[in-house]
Amino acid sequence: MDIVIRNGTIITAGGIFPADVGIVGERITALGEELRPELGRRLHGVVELDATGCYVLPGAIDPHVHLQMPAGHYVSSDDFTSGTVAAALGGTTTVIDFVEPKPGEPLLDALAKRRTEADGRVAVDYGLHMTVPTWHAAHPKELDALSEVVEASVPSFKLYLAYEGLRLDDAQLYRVMKAIAGAGGLPIVHCENGPICEILRAQAVAQGNTTPIYHALTRPPRQEAEAVSRAIDLAALAGSSLYVVHVSCAEAAARIAAARLQGEPIYGETCPQYLTLTVDDLDGPHGERFVCSPPLRSQADQAVLWDTLARRDLDVLATDHCPFTTDEKNGIATNGRPRPDGHADFTAIPGGLPSIEARLSLAHTLGVRAGWLTLERWVEICCTNPARIFGLRRKGQIAPGLEADLVIFDPDRRLTIQAGRTLHERVDWSPYEGLVVQGWPRDVLSRGRVIVRDGEFVGEAGWGRFVLREQG
Ligand code: MN
Ligand code: MN
Repeated sequence: MDIVIRNGTIITAGGIFPADVGIVGERITALGEELRPELGRRLHGVVELDATGCYVLPGAIDPHVHLQMPAGHYVSSDDFTSGTVAAALGGTTTVIDFVEPKPGEPLLDALAKRRTEADGRVAVDYGLHMTVPTWHAAHPKELDALSEVVEASVPSFKLYLAYEGLRLDDAQLYRVMKAIAGAGGLPIVHCENGPICEILRAQAVAQGNTTPIYHALTRPPRQEAEAVSRAIDLAALAGSSLYVVHVSCAEAAARIAAARLQGEPIYGETCPQYLTLTVDDLDGPHGERFVCSPPLRSQADQAVLWDTLARRDLDVLATDHCPFTTDEKNGIATNGRPRPDGHADFTAIPGGLPSIEARLSLAHTLGVRAGWLTLERWVEICCTNPARIFGLRRKGQIAPGLEADLVIFDPDRRLTIQAGRTLHERVDWSPYEGLVVQGWPRDVLSRGRVIVRDGEFVGEAGWGRFVLREQG
């Protein structure tokens, strides 16, 4: 063996037990009591990690991140290196980002280009989802290419029901879902009713209601729930499964739970921000920072989302990490100049929040310790389900033969969240600033290599690889 993790408590989706973990090369090779490295290997420097008092978890998987994502005058502030280093420090050993093809750009060309941005720069393994925007949905040649995209290890497709240029109408959504199902892929859908939001936004602006709170008031829960229902029904008509990203409210969660009760293959995701922040944050002194879509909701919605996660009608806790600096949130473009068109109202604020680093710990502190989640369920929603749903066959669990992506998590370590100090995301604020979390990763392994040691990053940019994924 090359590495033995001793005396830890293994936490998996299926159970909790004390065991040592043996690793050779990139794989887990043994799981048992008091593993002894072979004598010969010991002479050649087997690394022993003592996990006494700690949990040993599968490396966490964040299947919804936006690193160096262009958004109008802005680019999300974490690049593939800074974002994956922060992810690693927080116990996340695989991220899945997005390809966003431009009108007229073939899907496969856009995929190749996005890979050149990430390959050689990521500190942990990464995958990509393919976006099918409005232009591509209308071009049969592009829909024919979906099976080639699946073969290129990108078997999940991001579809939008909001945002002009991305948004699919009912006919497009149906056609694209049918093509995705035919190619053996999974549609993952941003469910908000774009046209309704546009009407409400225009009304608010016309009435001079331009402060950040109107971002939430013009994207009410019911329009999200409507879009979730529509996606569920069109997926059924198209013979497709469906993954709903960033479920933010009780009403949308209820639509998913009802479909699952009927046995429909619907997956649901929520994010830390919807479990911990509320619409009131948009009314505070830094309201502009908290603009994200769907918007933050009420405390009552939070309780329902926690409960739905616990009851297993939501499957995944992902971040939707999409950081913008305070300047960017206030209308200073990424190039440092004021936006040429000014920043007069909430509709111009770049949307998205950072949280790639604290997800696992937030879910431990506010989910497990607060009594919403069992330890097993915590691992299931952060590690095991994302691997299963997104076709990462060798990740998300701890068993011989699987890749040695592992987190030694100290459940007693306290940390005060402070952007730029205790966090390593490349952004000058955190939505969780000042929050004291209990439980933080001590050591992190990516494919058998220690990349975080005692809370310090010791890996390297370029270590991460593009992951092989198989759907179904
Ligand atoms: Mn979205
Ligand atoms: Mn997103």
